[in-house]
Amino acid sequence: MILVSACLLGHKVKYSGGSNPHALLMKYNERGQFMAVCPECLGQLPIPRPPVEIQQADGAAVLAGNARVQSADGKDVTSCFLHGAQEVLQTAVAYGIRTAILKENSPSCGVHAVYDGSFSHNRLSGQGVCAALLAQHGIRLYSEKDMTEELLEKLLEEDKDSRQ
Ligand code: SF4
Repeated sequence: MILVSACLLGHKVKYSGGSNPHALLMKYNERGQFMAVCPECLGQLPIPRPPVEIQQADGAAVLAGNARVQSADGKDVTSCFLHGAQEVLQTAVAYGIRTAILKENSPSCGVHAVYDGSFSHNRLSGQGVCAALLAQHGIRLYSEKDMTEELLEKLLEEDKDSRQ
């Protein structure tokens, strides 16, 4: 199986109550090899919820205890993010998952970049909290922006081979 951010597969789990449907991933979802996960939902955050950003740092800094995750209305939700990330990691370990495709720029799922905490669409290089935890445990990460038919065919073939 391959972990995929649930919002990319059309699940309405975003802070706004909407989703981020990704046509190519939704087409390949029909193969039955994707496992949809939303770390913020697993961290017990409600839908809808206020938007949240890591404060001037990335997910690795949050995991190290050097940065916080805060909502636009000033609430510290760091513990929810840490809990949700651990839940996703446990799922990945339980199913022997080695690859994840996650939503870029999200404070949980961002693979190459996250918003900077100013709530003004500024980004900085780094991963979200869940993405950073998965990477620290050797799980290979891609964002939806990396996806091509060729890459997806290769990843799904590798996934099939790893189960034989
Ligand atoms: Fe999508 Fe990840 Fe945000 Fe959940 S936490 S809504 S899966 S980007």
